[in-house]
Amino acid sequence: MVENAEVTQTPSPSNEPSTSANHPLPSTAHAAHPQGHESIFVRPSDLLRPKAASRTTVPTTPPDRPIDRDQRAGLKAIRDFLRIRNCYDVLPLSFRLIELDVGLTVKESLNILVQCGIVSAPLWDSSTSTYAGLLTVNDYLNVVRYYNLHADKLKDVDKLLLSDLKDVEKVLDVKPPETVSASPEAILYDALRQQLVSRARRIPLVSYDSDTQRTMVTSVITQYRILKFIAMNVKETEVLRKPLAMIKLGTYGNIVRCTMDTTVLDVVDEMVLKNISSVPVVTTEGILLNVFEAVDVIGILKTGDYGNLTWTVGKVLSARSPNHPGIYCCSLEDGLDTIFETIKRSRVHRLMIVDDNNYLKGILSLSDILHYLLVEGQEETNPT
Ligand code: AMP
Repeated sequence: MVENAEVTQTPSPSNEPSTSANHPLPSTAHAAHPQGHESIFVRPSDLLRPKAASRTTVPTTPPDRPIDRDQRAGLKAIRDFLRIRNCYDVLPLSFRLIELDVGLTVKESLNILVQCGIVSAPLWDSSTSTYAGLLTVNDYLNVVRYYNLHADKLKDVDKLLLSDLKDVEKVLDVKPPETVSASPEAILYDALRQQLVSRARRIPLVSYDSDTQRTMVTSVITQYRILKFIAMNVKETEVLRKPLAMIKLGTYGNIVRCTMDTTVLDVVDEMVLKNISSVPVVTTEGILLNVFEAVDVIGILKTGDYGNLTWTVGKVLSARSPNHPGIYCCSLEDGLDTIFETIKRSRVHRLMIVDDNNYLKGILSLSDILHYLLVEGQEETNPT
């Protein structure tokens, strides 16, 4: 079987006599063993066999190098750490919790978020005294899309309540985000694995009070806070030296980009449809200039003027606060070791992967990193 397969794959030398119709003899063998010397005749299969053998001996897995072993050891250390911590451990010693009643208007909620410098908050339904989900930037993106489609309703925008957001989702036919909450006592590793499935970017910590039989929100943990917690406590992050190019971490194909002239409405549409939280702003040559973030929409809406959504991305970026931290970049040669160092020092939400000329090559989001830390290498082996 192998011989036949090989013969058909080997190009037949043209104009050469052959020993049989099915087994053309390679010209070199034919020249070395002219017809008449049957005893030393080399059959095509003899020549072809070593090729077949060399093909089958090509190693299927690359050799295990120190850098591979270190990477595995680093991942194991992180997973072991996450398995002995609970969600509560991620919270700082002192923190504040801002919860919004679903009876507030969307406009009021925007003012509160802006005044408190936050971009999401758990919702509270005081009529039932229960936790009512998480308000995130995505809700505001939906509101933007809703009024773009129903400009006639814009006159009532100030009356829109947080409890109406579910109806907005229905009209837009968008699936409400899965609210995957976790108990503060839940094992961090388990809570994160659950979060991966839902693709949620935050985990509300919700506890149940058996006395009152009510749920209560303790806090909300973000992807950044989890990664910073790892960066500060697991020294083995230093051995995650494999470059992004090698571990193929991040998104490189079909990157949604925009230019300074794209309108905010167009960018918002893409962000909602593709479920992404940012869009890099590039020149026509693909050089990275900036990043439009979903949270930029809060800054636009805070004035209450929905007409601002026809602004271009360039105009929105130039209206950003001077305190905006800027964007974070890395290269394909960077490993998670250096990225964790950056996370330790700065509130990073994503990194743009660029080459030496600032040409955009890819995007590395915090969800990509978390996915890698939890899942990499687990398909082939038992979870360790
Ligand atoms: P994020 O929006 O940061 O939660 O990222 C969710 C997923 O989408 C990750 O796998 C990112 O690498 C990817 N991603 C983020 N932004 C973009 C974009 N502009 N175009 C394509 N993929 C993206």
